[in-house]
Amino acid sequence: MKSYNRVTDIQTDLQSGSVSCVELVEYYLQNIQEKSHLNAFNEVWADEAREKAILIDAKIKSGQAGSLAGIVIALKDNMAYKDHKVSASSKILEGFESLYTATAVERLEKEDAIFIGRTNCDEFAMGASNENSAFGSVKNPHDETKVPGGSSGGSAVAVAADMCHCSLGSDTGGSIRQPAAFNGIYGLKPTYGRISRWGLLAYASSFDQIGPFAKSIEDVALLTSIMSGKDEHDATLLQEPPIDNWSYEGKQKQTFAVMNQAVNHEGLDPEVKASFTRLLEKLESQGHKITYFDFPLLDQMVPTYYVLTTAEASSNLSRYSGMMYGYRSDNATDLESTYIKSRTEGFGPEVKRRIMLGTFVLSSDQYDAYYEKALKVRRIIQDQTDQVLDNADAILLPTTSSPAFGLGEKSKDPVSMYLADLFTVQANLAGNPAISIPVSKTEEGLPLGVQLMTSRGSENDLYSLSRLIEEVNS
Ligand code: GLN
Repeated sequence: MKSYNRVTDIQTDLQSGSVSCVELVEYYLQNIQEKSHLNAFNEVWADEAREKAILIDAKIKSGQAGSLAGIVIALKDNMAYKDHKVSASSKILEGFESLYTATAVERLEKEDAIFIGRTNCDEFAMGASNENSAFGSVKNPHDETKVPGGSSGGSAVAVAADMCHCSLGSDTGGSIRQPAAFNGIYGLKPTYGRISRWGLLAYASSFDQIGPFAKSIEDVALLTSIMSGKDEHDATLLQEPPIDNWSYEGKQKQTFAVMNQAVNHEGLDPEVKASFTRLLEKLESQGHKITYFDFPLLDQMVPTYYVLTTAEASSNLSRYSGMMYGYRSDNATDLESTYIKSRTEGFGPEVKRRIMLGTFVLSSDQYDAYYEKALKVRRIIQDQTDQVLDNADAILLPTTSSPAFGLGEKSKDPVSMYLADLFTVQANLAGNPAISIPVSKTEEGLPLGVQLMTSRGSENDLYSLSRLIEEVNS
């Protein structure tokens, strides 16, 4: 089976009959089996995918197939899909099955996508290495001693290792872009409000966005446009119609803004810096403009993000009480001990840490000092991000400050793990769309990505600038 980078290439072959949906599904299932030690999937829906493939092959023959006919997609295990288990990689949802389907998932299904399984992730999307999972760690296919990134690690690995054509992740502070960078693929966090969060298990509601992992910009754009648009279940959605066409005007000269504090950061890995500098030089040599800006708040972004997201998480996760969903402790004797024991036994250590942190910053004694202050800093970060984008077409940053790190390397040190989000949280704090594009590899062969961010609502610009980066870099 040839390896496909674009939905359109698969569809050309499906139309001509040189490949069938059944063959595609078998190919991915075989890869899933051969690479099962990477631990990318929490559950594989093999029989269902096979049955669906037969159905879609028939639809293609009769000319009635949807725009994603035969495209095999994996879902991060924090999205509801009716009558299928969903766990957020947590013991607390053990045995729970979705009662309805997430809007984003439903829209892909309507276009005849084939879902192949639910992917491993950090518990409740809290993490940057996919090591906080009740299903065990995921391994990076480029080097199995390294993490795949997180929290959507399984979804990134599934695409990188050809276990599906594309996949969905969720991004609250970098959980799509960082694993995309660590796995050498594309990952988009859309504008906040672009894609309905209905059916996404909430971590921090004012930050969370669903987005795609893919091997091309075209596929990122296609999936995003299908998933986006109004939905009565999510009041935070943008009111504009979804973007369904974009074009690349290659000749225009563009301005990229680069943050001084990021490129000169002491934590920046030398190979990341060298790769990024090479890209800037290539852009300049082709007549594009690089402007440098100061962003003194860079080091405040991660603390601001953690105050606000843990506060939101402490509220969102209060519903997992042992009463309504999934796991209930066998050792409980009354209502209160049901709550306490189910939560104590059901949640992993990182989730507990964040619930406690969030409860602390929201407590009446601390509210002003932490939560309210962080809200103000968030607003300043939004305003300053807007100002930079008033004078440039995009902000360009390395996606991560280092290539994929070793399994176990940061898992005992939460603060160093939190710093893995240094360059990605800005887009979530400000609500802007941001994409990670694969650009190079380290000497050891580990992928490196760059991140592009444009103004809110301007995914079209983001796509065409991504194409530009790709061309300049090739
Ligand atoms: N690594 C970040 C965190 O642990 C981001 C997670 C995410 O985007 N879901 O919160």
